[in-house]
Amino acid sequence: MRCEVVAVGTELLLGQIIDTNSAWLGEQLALAGIDRTHGQTVGDNLDRIVGALELALSRADAVIVCGGLGPTQDDITRDAIAAVMGVPLEADDDVADRILERFAARGRRMPANNMRQAMVPRGATAISDPQPGTAPGLICPVGDKVVYAVPGVPSELHEIVRGAVLPDLARRAGSVAVISSRTLRTWGDSESGLAERLAEHMRELDEAGPAAPTLAFLASGIEGLKVRITVKADDEATAAQRIDAEEKLVRDLLGDIVFATDGDTMEHVVAEMLTSRGLTLAVAESLTGGLVASRLVNVPGASDWFRGGVVSYAPEVKFTVLDVPEGPVVSAGTAVAMAAGVRSLLGADVGLGVTGVAGPDALDGEPPGTVHLAVVVGDDEPVTVRVMLPGGRETVRQLACISLLDLLRRTLRGRRGDTPRGWPLA
Ligand code: ATP
Repeated sequence: MRCEVVAVGTELLLGQIIDTNSAWLGEQLALAGIDRTHGQTVGDNLDRIVGALELALSRADAVIVCGGLGPTQDDITRDAIAAVMGVPLEADDDVADRILERFAARGRRMPANNMRQAMVPRGATAISDPQPGTAPGLICPVGDKVVYAVPGVPSELHEIVRGAVLPDLARRAGSVAVISSRTLRTWGDSESGLAERLAEHMRELDEAGPAAPTLAFLASGIEGLKVRITVKADDEATAAQRIDAEEKLVRDLLGDIVFATDGDTMEHVVAEMLTSRGLTLAVAESLTGGLVASRLVNVPGASDWFRGGVVSYAPEVKFTVLDVPEGPVVSAGTAVAMAAGVRSLLGADVGLGVTGVAGPDALDGEPPGTVHLAVVVGDDEPVTVRVMLPGGRETVRQLACISLLDLLRRTLRGRRGDTPRGWPLA
């Protein structure tokens, strides 16, 4: 099975937008075991889009065309597909109803232009589930081949491709009925370190042949590294079983660097750990300037366990508000005193402290990137680490933030006699 991607949009050709959709689609097709041998980018011009689709169809069994499904006159992907199919565009009443409902639900008047999005080439199917935006995806048969049209907005494209296009492609490939994947999120090792931990297992999977699960690494910058497990099976139940079994094997090999699966973030993980233990949290931040608190309140219901924070940026604020002993402020002692100070000031069970040098200049004789992190839980011995973080000012601050949350995660998990709920590695 071969599938090509055609990205539509003059802005892509002018370099005003980077074509992340083609990159993402390439990765998804590879993970699904579908070959992609060529890719094209084409502007908003009917003849050229028709030409691009015909060329792609001459080489591949399936084509995914992304972008140009909007309501305006320059959104002409559906016209181009109709031309390639040799059929007219027809209004699809169900699609029209869904578009009208969407506007009504938001209490907004629908511009007449939006009805263009209900036009579907005769013989094509509009994808109703999922339909994240106003434009539905389209499945358009062309002889024994197929063109899928999906919106250019990345989040909408992802949802429609995952929910409808890839399953349809897999059915056409006839090989499998279900492709399922799960992402394990890790913090605390490099990409090469991760690859080393998994090298032997990946060799075994390779040798086991095409039906075996596949693993892929995805670097996610300040959010760490992800390991994606993909399995194929004839039905959902078998896929779920295979993915669970593979997840267990990978977790055993990676150990405690795995902090979450799929969309769960570090703040969600620590929130669940604090809640399950009935602990409250307060945070004292210097170089992160409130980033840690901001991430924590991303979690709905954070007020149940998050007491608040102090941005003690100037040294005097550390000394006067948090009772930090006077002296150099980039030190383990200061981080611990900040954590202990904010814990007692805000009446929390757990205190966090972070101080360091975001750069570009050195401070207290410490180079940029030096960060001290501390966690104080009740009367337990304080936990503190010094990390050297790479990158410019913004990256150092972001990395300091997730490093501190990870230190909290590890500290809570390591507490004796305390078995967290819902945390498989505990
Ligand atoms: P809509 O229905 O929302 O109008 P559309 O299918 O018409 O979507 P476009 O108008 O082509 O899509 O693009 C909408 C937005 O999606 C662009 O402004 C851009 O931000 C983003 N986008 C489009 N194509 C790509 C691409 N190939 N890679 C990344 N982003 C893209």
